[in-house]
Amino acid sequence: MGGFFGVVSQQTCVSDVFFGTDYHSHMGTVRGGIAVFAGNAFHRSSHNLANAQFRARFERAATRFAGLNPHYGLGVISDQDDQPIFVQSHLGRYALALVGLVTNLQELAEQLLRDNRGHFCALGKDGELNALEILTMLINTQDTFEDGLRYVQEHVEGSASLLLLSDKGVLYAARDRFGRTPVILGRRESDGAVAVTMESCALSNLGYAYDRDLKAGEVVAITLDGVRTLVEGHEEQAICSFLYVYYGYPASTYENVGVERVRYRCGAYLARRNPVDADIVAGIPDSGVAHALGYAFESGIRYARPFVKYTPTWPRSFMPPDQSLRQKIANMKLLPVPELIRDKRLVFCDDSIVRGTQLRNQVKRLFDAGAKDIHVRIACPPLIYKCKFLTFSRTESVMDLMTRRIIQEIGGSDADVESFRDPDGAPYKAMVEEMRRRLGMTSLVFARVPDVEKAIGIGPRICTYCWTGEDISLRGNGGCKGHCACCAERCAMTPKA
Ligand code: SF4
Repeated sequence: MGGFFGVVSQQTCVSDVFFGTDYHSHMGTVRGGIAVFAGNAFHRSSHNLANAQFRARFERAATRFAGLNPHYGLGVISDQDDQPIFVQSHLGRYALALVGLVTNLQELAEQLLRDNRGHFCALGKDGELNALEILTMLINTQDTFEDGLRYVQEHVEGSASLLLLSDKGVLYAARDRFGRTPVILGRRESDGAVAVTMESCALSNLGYAYDRDLKAGEVVAITLDGVRTLVEGHEEQAICSFLYVYYGYPASTYENVGVERVRYRCGAYLARRNPVDADIVAGIPDSGVAHALGYAFESGIRYARPFVKYTPTWPRSFMPPDQSLRQKIANMKLLPVPELIRDKRLVFCDDSIVRGTQLRNQVKRLFDAGAKDIHVRIACPPLIYKCKFLTFSRTESVMDLMTRRIIQEIGGSDADVESFRDPDGAPYKAMVEEMRRRLGMTSLVFARVPDVEKAIGIGPRICTYCWTGEDISLRGNGGCKGHCACCAERCAMTPKA
């Protein structure tokens, strides 16, 4: 996924950029970068984060940059290419950071080459096209940053929220055209500083008050004089539901809706729809905990922690190639508490099931520790479609999804995937029963789409593609363009004749 944080301030901005970016550490685990503009020059530091925390990697750079007394800076943590990228162009010098997933890179590159406006330096790993490089070329086709950012939003498929710091002392923030990711403004009253963030929880400890969420497609310019909207946003929005259900930080709000409260409501809906006799409600850390609390509040069953997290050692993204070592590390992250497991009927809440591998292992460990029953409740519907807007999981292919493998086994290679979406239908029930059987649980229930929508509570302005296959970017947009992945997966939108 990824996250960014930018600052424009009358005072030196380095510690705000450093800590503000650090608050996005849960959003990405591959690369980190910070850039400041001071003394008419850009200064940049970037590091691999796969084996170290952001703070450890960037402490020295932050100390060095603080001596430059910069007023403009940005930081980014991502799962993709090295960021921010620096460019010298007819628009001036600038630094650019991206959060999103550009799925039509090849098409964009070919168009740029056809127009004699492209050249590619093979910045991506293994010579792949580099999204940042192509976005800068798209921006540079226009006469102003405003037009350039608008042009990017009009041409990118997938999603792209951007931070651009120019050598004129302007920080541009552009929220993805459909608002898949949040971009939030904060202001500090004491000195008039403005921050732009993806996690609102980054603001308060740095002295900023929440100001507002940018609208989908909105572009603003932030200077020492304040914030100016360059491109008006719109209401046609599809913010990622998984931010609320899974990977957003619990203390954050997006669209003014608090993540922790959404998770309580998801848990409450699960309890209301699927009551079960049990002794303890528990959650798989981290996000499963809030869903479990919501379940416990609603059901009246006491909450406890039969699994506790052990975090001090392995970095989150460390993945040794050896399977048995991977398993040991996964086990090390969750420690069972035997007295809370033996002879107990447990309800376990989790955010989602992707491959199911870890959950199967955890269920086995609970039964091995003497659990009587394990009822698993999942806070979102089954993941049937692979996300094509964000890099939020390690799934490479749709067939990595447990649901899809089972659907194929049940219905063959040309199975009607859409028929497995209806929770009251026989195909759905057969799929979930097979998941339950393979994962070794006593019972397995998923949340329903309308319940998740109610739990988030902002109406249809959320993305539910990975559960429903329905994609707002095909609505009100001239209909199906016939070249995105969802058509191959029986797009729910009416194809254009
Ligand atoms: S498809 Fe799923 S993960 Fe991707 S943006 Fe939509 S809700 Fe989020």
